[in-house]
Amino acid sequence: MTALAVEEIAYHDPSMAIAVYTLLNNGWPFIAYLFGDKGVVAEVVGEVARGRAFLGIASTEPHGGSDIAGIKTTARKSNNKWLITGEKVYISGVRESMEDLPTGGGWILLAKTEKPERGHRNITSFILLGRWNREKKKGLEYSKLNTIGRHGLSTGILKLEDVEVDDKYRVGDVNKGFYIVQQGFNVARILVAAANIGAARWAIERALEWIRERRLFDNRPIASFQGVSFKFAELYTELESAKLLVYRAAWLADKIYIDKDPMFKPQDLNVPVAMAKMKAPEIATRIFEETMRWFGAFGYTRDSNLFRGWLGVTSYTIGAEGAQNIMRYIIARDTIGREYVR
Ligand SMILES: Cc1cc2nc3c(=O)[nH]c(=O)nc-3n(C[C@H](O)[C@H](O)[C@H](O)COP(=O)(O)OP(=O)(O)OC[C@H]3O[C@@H](n4cnc5c(N)ncnc54)[C@H](O)[C@@H]3O)c2cc1C
Repeated sequence: MTALAVEEIAYHDPSMAIAVYTLLNNGWPFIAYLFGDKGVVAEVVGEVARGRAFLGIASTEPHGGSDIAGIKTTARKSNNKWLITGEKVYISGVRESMEDLPTGGGWILLAKTEKPERGHRNITSFILLGRWNREKKKGLEYSKLNTIGRHGLSTGILKLEDVEVDDKYRVGDVNKGFYIVQQGFNVARILVAAANIGAARWAIERALEWIRERRLFDNRPIASFQGVSFKFAELYTELESAKLLVYRAAWLADKIYIDKDPMFKPQDLNVPVAMAKMKAPEIATRIFEETMRWFGAFGYTRDSNLFRGWLGVTSYTIGAEGAQNIMRYIIARDTIGREYVR
């Protein structure tokens, strides 16, 4: 149902800003709900559900977001608190959390809790509330980036210097953060893919109206030219196949997390989700690029609005919620085998 809702929101805001805000605010609070302290969940997720707060993800660091096991942010335990130091970049929801929303917001943040050589086995996840009830976290500085699209949702940088987080805000066990966020990415990526389907549906439906109406060469609709109609058939079919990949991944997530069907494990989502997250943004971007051409010069104007959707879906071929090559890596690794694909 969340995937369908996010798809519809993106259909009505193809710039994707509101859909991305919605998908982050559903995917990551769900992970807090599954693995977090019950009191913290009531406090934080309750406010998110009331529309008064934001909870996203802070994993990416300046040296490269794809290598999560290589993060450098550290969390040091001191009595019942953790002191977190490091830098997170390209983080969605910075302005919304730190300035806009009535209660505030934060992120599920990843940090190394033990010696760096243990790779992904020494990462712990925490709920870091950057601002809560008008109180800003001490030791946290933030700034906003000038992104080329999705302007309705901010992207920014977080710098942390001995930021204190109470142990109750830890999500899951110490050193199990990597596995927890993998599940978070699986859930969030289904919604990412659904958002791309919604935006692409908007574009192809607008294009369909246009190619029926636009008349050239003896007053023929441009849809009557096979150069247009065959391309339409291809794109429409690929969109439908991407949609089915998204719905299958969403169905499987329901089986695992809602029905708790013992036939399925969380890792079973890896390939179906990576396929959906790989396919949906790539076909969505192609649909925007192709349909912009059908609109001729009008497609190149700001009045056509197509460029907003194009810049929105492109954020996901660039890398938001995981680079496209990382989706290919997951599919290859889990189907060919870890002993072959590293
Ligand atoms: C609009 C936007 C919003 C974002 N919001 C958030 C957020 O809220 N929270 C957050 O934590 N992050 C966020 N990100 C960051 C996003 O998660 C990263 O962009 C992504 O993980 C890739 O990291 P990177 O940009 O550092 O690229 P890199 O990891 O440096 O990758 C660079 C290039 O190398 C390729 N590459 C990397 N490794 C491999 C490999 N093993 N094999 C083949 N190719 C490879 C990638 O495909 C990519 O093309 C956001 C990004 C964008 C664009």
